[in-house]
Amino acid sequence: MDLKSNHTALVLADPAPLNKSTLRVSSGLLPYSGATFSQNLFLTVPTMKAGILDIRTSNCLDSMESSSPPDKKSRDFNNDLESTDTDVAYRAWLVVDFLCLSDFIFDTIRGVINLLLRTLSFALQLKYPSALASFDLITNPAKGKRIALFLDYDGTLSPIVDNPDCAFMSNDMRAAVKNVAEFFPTAIISGRSRDKVYEFVGLTELNYAGSHGMDIMGPVRQSFDDHSNCIRSTDNQGKEVNLFQPASEFLPMIYENSRPSQVFNSLANNTKDIRGAKVENNKFCVSVHYRNVDEKDWTVVAQRVHDVIRNYPRLRLTHGRKVLEVRPVINWDKGKAVTFLLESLELSNCEDVLPIYVGDDQTDEDAFKVLREGNCGYGILVSSLPKESNAFFSLKDPQEVMEFLKSLVVWKKTSTL
Ligand SMILES: [Mg+2]
Repeated sequence: MDLKSNHTALVLADPAPLNKSTLRVSSGLLPYSGATFSQNLFLTVPTMKAGILDIRTSNCLDSMESSSPPDKKSRDFNNDLESTDTDVAYRAWLVVDFLCLSDFIFDTIRGVINLLLRTLSFALQLKYPSALASFDLITNPAKGKRIALFLDYDGTLSPIVDNPDCAFMSNDMRAAVKNVAEFFPTAIISGRSRDKVYEFVGLTELNYAGSHGMDIMGPVRQSFDDHSNCIRSTDNQGKEVNLFQPASEFLPMIYENSRPSQVFNSLANNTKDIRGAKVENNKFCVSVHYRNVDEKDWTVVAQRVHDVIRNYPRLRLTHGRKVLEVRPVINWDKGKAVTFLLESLELSNCEDVLPIYVGDDQTDEDAFKVLREGNCGYGILVSSLPKESNAFFSLKDPQEVMEFLKSLVVWKKTSTL
């Protein structure tokens, strides 16, 4: 867990983020990070993990032993066999004393960390106020306008889970999204493949963008017919739609079986012996999950992924929450997907429309940034921990996202009475 600060705010990144120190790889192997934040004043708080001996603790013990004079421990084995009851009692006392001391130390560390987290959490609320507590600040500027809603999926509508195939949203959340979509144009923008996120959400009332916005399905617009990479297609109900896939030329490189070393299979083969590693086909993005990989093997995961993509200069590596993502090098991200969808839904006039984007991941920062820099909407960061963001507001978790969506519906109903 890294704590960092810049001149304006304290920053707490995701627990155990993938960085130079955790991966212990050269900077040339590091994954690309979309948004850049100040790297100044990093403060690392060690995390204790059950069953894992911290190497620093081991070194500490080695140093203590080498610098201490011989004691009872150094007596020979025969003498130990002749231990007296007094010795036994003394050793027991030493153990109890050590355990008590350990408890005290761990309790103190735990207390300090909790205090630090509460302080940083308070700092987050100051810089990025709760979208629930500051609901009026969001809806007052929306009076007389249409709210357009953009929602990330993992960590926003569904909890982050160990198995990415099981990131199901609750029925209550699905009902909340369905209700809000009745009042506001709503789109899901996910790093998952569009088909997969549709399977999870299962609502026909929404627009969907998969692969971090590189696969957008929207309503038919004659004006987009000349747009490169935009084709006519049909949705699951057989309705004609526009399909925009700006990275379509990369698909053969990533998946075509006739190629001797296509990317998806190479990544799967290169990581299949790493326990817990999982490679996911997200169409224009291949995700290598390491959430279930032992931390000591994260370096291996990064190295194996790098070994594959080093042969593909037109692919790049980004990272999300315990996932490495291989994607095409194109000038396209979730921010551009928001702009495209607003145009596609004929909602690009900021005088009449207030876009709101809710997301939890680094890739959502591109969308937050578009809204902030365009001064035409609000980003809402979903995070229980403080971290630097281009968002304006925050929500703690998917449960608060659901409450926010319900509040929007209530507000809309009462404001039109
Ligand atoms: Mg997410």
